[in-house]
Amino acid sequence: MATERTLSIIKPDATKRNLTGKINAKFEDAGLRIVAQKRIHLTPAQAGEFYKVHAERPFYGELCDFMASGPVVVQVLEGEGAIAKNREVMGATNPADAAPGTVRAEFAESVGENSVHGSDAPETAKEEIAYFFAGLELVG
Ligand code: UDP
Ligand code: MG
Repeated sequence: MATERTLSIIKPDATKRNLTGKINAKFEDAGLRIVAQKRIHLTPAQAGEFYKVHAERPFYGELCDFMASGPVVVQVLEGEGAIAKNREVMGATNPADAAPGTVRAEFAESVGENSVHGSDAPETAKEEIAYFFAGLELVG
């Protein structure tokens, strides 16, 4: 499997509870390298643009407000099969379905406030990385 990069976001519910380090440890323990990282506070419009694929879903408004409710840590993770590996480390969207030991099983508060985002495919990873980072900010 090839080396990939994926976009990860530590969401406001997790930054609020000071969980950035604990979540980063799970990524690093799984062999994912954090090759770019910054803490930012999105506006609802910026969150809405990021999640526009979900614009027709009933939870979209709430999701945008939540993502703008506090700081997030946006990061680029790199490694062998990083996109799928990160999804494994994250666990299922609904923490009730997330496997033991995953970020969401341990830390998520609900299906909406579920601590982390991760890209789901190579094309979305590329777009999502470019939304937050310039090429010079990726230090592999
Ligand atoms: N979400 C929600 N209610 C739902 C499904 C999703 O609030 O019923 C939120 C949740 O924060 C999730 C995000 O919308 O992480 C994006 O949904 P997606 O299905 O892409 O899940 P993910 O890829 O984050 O596992
Ligand atoms: Mg998704």
